[in-house]
Amino acid sequence: MSADRAAGIVREAGGADLLERLQHLDALAGTRRVDESLDKPIASDLSTDVDVVIAGGGLSLLYAPLLAAQGLRVLVADRARIGRAHREWNAQLAELSTLVRLGLLTEEDVTRVVVRTYAYGVCTWYEGGTYPVKGVLDCAFDGRALLSLVREKSENAGVTLLDGHRVVGFGEGPSSVNVALEDATGKRRVVRTKLLVDARGAASPYASADLVCPTVGGVMTGLDEGTGPRQQDPTVGEILATTETLLAGQQHLWEAFPGHPGQTTVYLFYYTWAKRFRPGDLLELYARFFERLPVYRAGNATLVTPTFGLIPGWSRLTPAPRAPGRRVLLVGDAAARHSPLTYCGFGDLVRSLDETLTRITTAAASPRGLEDTRTDAIIHGGTGLLAAMMAEPPTAPEDHGAVTRLLDTAFSTLHAMPNDAYARLLRDEMGGREFVTFLRATAKQRPEVYASVFKRLGPAAVAKWGMNLAQGFFA
Ligand SMILES: Cc1cc2nc3c(=O)[nH]c(=O)nc-3n(C[C@H](O)[C@H](O)[C@H](O)COP(=O)(O)OP(=O)(O)OC[C@H]3O[C@@H](n4cnc5c(N)ncnc54)[C@H](O)[C@@H]3O)c2cc1C
Repeated sequence: MSADRAAGIVREAGGADLLERLQHLDALAGTRRVDESLDKPIASDLSTDVDVVIAGGGLSLLYAPLLAAQGLRVLVADRARIGRAHREWNAQLAELSTLVRLGLLTEEDVTRVVVRTYAYGVCTWYEGGTYPVKGVLDCAFDGRALLSLVREKSENAGVTLLDGHRVVGFGEGPSSVNVALEDATGKRRVVRTKLLVDARGAASPYASADLVCPTVGGVMTGLDEGTGPRQQDPTVGEILATTETLLAGQQHLWEAFPGHPGQTTVYLFYYTWAKRFRPGDLLELYARFFERLPVYRAGNATLVTPTFGLIPGWSRLTPAPRAPGRRVLLVGDAAARHSPLTYCGFGDLVRSLDETLTRITTAAASPRGLEDTRTDAIIHGGTGLLAAMMAEPPTAPEDHGAVTRLLDTAFSTLHAMPNDAYARLLRDEMGGREFVTFLRATAKQRPEVYASVFKRLGPAAVAKWGMNLAQGFFA
């Protein structure tokens, strides 16, 4: 299928606005992403229009009503419509209770947005095994319904919402930041704030993470339901799956999670180095999605809602993304502090919600702005190398099955461990010693993995990884 045909299907199902968002993301690699430098407020300029500007009203919109509830004046600006997600999420049901605890959602809201809970999840590998796991990514919720609700709560809490306004630049002074906003007609305005929260995702000029996970797919109807091969069991979430070896030089992975009756969200994605991502790659992936879907799932599939994105990932082998100065805070995908293996940005946002809210309120109130850096889950120092390996598949034709074979070995090892350990790895909670046990057990079955890591990533990456393990795991 051609990329143009894939674009046509996305437009038919999602409309011209959604296709524009896809094309914007797809062109990012070819665009020079820089913020304009504005005049900086001087030290004696203490008046501000708002306390916090959130640049980007995607998933990070969740911060807005919570900050407003603490008495902060909050403005959210997005180049598109605020709170219109082009993705669906699965998560741990237990994580949604954090949103209730913080007062963002009521129990009734949770019931409204959760569309399905699963008996268990599975990871399944081409010419390998199927490995069930409980207690991880065990519910699907309606991303659009969640963000519409949060948008409504933001409005009720007095948050200023500027749809169709790009953040195009800023100038940071000692106690405030001037932020430039531009609407679709090119009309500009400057807003002065105590803190700029950069939640522009992959489009942020500071989203410098070294990996990226292009992801496409959407809510589908017409898939065969059942427990047979290529059928979708509505009681099970498929967390990760491969159905073949390399395609176009990449190891592609599938994910499928049933939602409303008769609907399943299906994704196709791969991990690659950010510097290798080229304009047009996302639409090409969409064309591949439609072409290869029958290999994954049987039935008369129809795309009902397109969902897609570019999820940045940070291997922890290179410097962390960070914004300049003390009054600009990177959050979400722009900061890329989520797992480099699962790319579960929703889960990460929820797990770090308390910490991020405290950082924002403290920085907005402090004459010095941001004082600290975000804590990173220890496990990421270890899993980053695994993600880097996935981004660098071996190219010799006889090695095309190497990545999926290694995944099969790794997941058979995890499955042989207690369910809690398997689930802890996927939830970013596995401890250092347990992770090393898992690595050793995997390498025992595939000793060639040592030579392969050195050959594909080089000694510098391996040394940095060794330091991550030593610092994080054995400190
Ligand atoms: C297809 C897909 C499926 C996913 N599924 C899951 C899942 O099941 N579980 C999970 O935990 N995670 C999942 N993720 C990851 C999760 O969605 C992201 O980590 C999360 O959305 C990041 O939130 P964010 O606010 O940083 O960025 P986003 O939600 O991407 O929002 C960025 C916003 O910035 C806006 N923007 C861009 N440039 C500008 C500008 N110059 N000025 C103003 N606004 C701008 C964009 O329009 C957009 O609305 C998925 C991601 C994708 C792409």
